[in-house]
Amino acid sequence: MAQIVQAIRGMHDVLPQDIPHWRHLEEAFRQVVQAYGYEEIRFPVVEKTELFVRTIGEVTDIVEKEMYTFEDLNGERLSLRPEGTAGCVRACLENGLLHNQVQRLWYGGPMFRHERPQKGRYRQFHQLGVEAYGMPGPDIDAELVFIGARLWRALGIPAPALQLNSLGTPAARARYRERLVVYLESRLDELDEDSRRRLHRNPLRVLDSKNPSMRAVIEEAPSLLDHLDAESAEHFAQLRALLDEAGIAYTVNPRLVRGLDYYEKTVFEWVSDRLGAQGTVCAGGRYDGLVEHLGGRPTPAAGFALGMERLLALMQEAGVTVAGQGPQAYLVMAGAGVTGPGLRLAEALRDRLPQLRLRVHCGGGSFKSQMKKADRSGAALALILGEEELADASVSVKFLREQRPQMRIDQDALADFLEGWLREEGQSGGRSGGWCDAGGDEPGDASGGVMISET
Ligand code: ATP
Ligand code: MG
Repeated sequence: MAQIVQAIRGMHDVLPQDIPHWRHLEEAFRQVVQAYGYEEIRFPVVEKTELFVRTIGEVTDIVEKEMYTFEDLNGERLSLRPEGTAGCVRACLENGLLHNQVQRLWYGGPMFRHERPQKGRYRQFHQLGVEAYGMPGPDIDAELVFIGARLWRALGIPAPALQLNSLGTPAARARYRERLVVYLESRLDELDEDSRRRLHRNPLRVLDSKNPSMRAVIEEAPSLLDHLDAESAEHFAQLRALLDEAGIAYTVNPRLVRGLDYYEKTVFEWVSDRLGAQGTVCAGGRYDGLVEHLGGRPTPAAGFALGMERLLALMQEAGVTVAGQGPQAYLVMAGAGVTGPGLRLAEALRDRLPQLRLRVHCGGGSFKSQMKKADRSGAALALILGEEELADASVSVKFLREQRPQMRIDQDALADFLEGWLREEGQSGGRSGGWCDAGGDEPGDASGGVMISET
């Protein structure tokens, strides 16, 4: 036998039984952002490498070591998108969406980063994000936080903890940077290798180090918040007041710097303590300078992106259940001359009940083997058309998941019966897809964040 080609490490399939949870998350997100008047935008998965280098910054983990970059046939250097903001701004500029206009946009889809695969960290992962353009004040920052808070409620998951910080304006940040470098140099022998490398190239990233041996150095570092310019300090105070007024809890984390260069003023992360090391489910902030940096007119901007796999893991952890997408009814056809009438009956049912998930048995076989397949399909009902039923234009209905006697129903009355049954099913919530773990890249890893099976 030929050898099976395997998927790329850190890139996962989403199997049919996983899909309902993904769809549920996408749908909840769509509903929430639409409730705030956001509109969807789609942009390519591949862009010129230069776009990401200019947007994200040369001395960042993403650009230094995480991008999938290749040469196109015409020699152009292209990269798979590692995040959405760069492509979104490019698309808006190119299509004139930012000329004297306010925009509230959302997007979703796969992102690619060459990271070490582990729980909550994949090479292809999926984000849902929003970007808001043309609004300079803290009110839109607050709205971005409200969207997150509402989404956690809509999903029925415990709210992750909100951490806030302000990076100040680029000028204030540059002043702080000098202070920080002097401080870090004074403690050079305590810095790990990564931090020494970053010391002169991107010293703020040292604050982001997760290495426990760096903790003391980081804790005693001068605080960004003590170096804020007046305008940023005021912006931050107003944002905090808006969140307080809305009753949204947060902690100020002066070490929160975010991994991308384009942020300024407000930055925030929603962090769950239920996901282990990769606890940040959603992150964002302001990037007022980016549009101009990419050749547009100065345009204030703010946004966030959430990691779908991490959020799905949180939904799983919280026991969120979602109805499966398998067939609800399975048509079994056994006997001479039943195929034509059976297919016609199924089409008539689909005309009347487009919402019914009806699978028709194809490929013949004995009644017994068809019933086995009906059972294995997960359907709740077997609709049986045999020679007897054909003779008196009826159908037998067998309940596959309930102790209920089999029924014989006129074909004319079948759609009405199924309509009533669907209504009952809808009220009782129908069958749910459960969750189960499956092996991933590493032992104990729930690959792709989520694996579920029909119960
Ligand atoms: P981290 O500190 O966890 O590496 P990040 O700062 O690189 O995150 P962002 O670029 O802010 O992440 O992306 C927003 C969100 O996308 C993250 O909060 C996380 O939920 C998710 N995310 C980022 N990288 C990955 C990945 N490799 N696999 C799965 N999810 C990811
Ligand atoms: Mg990262």
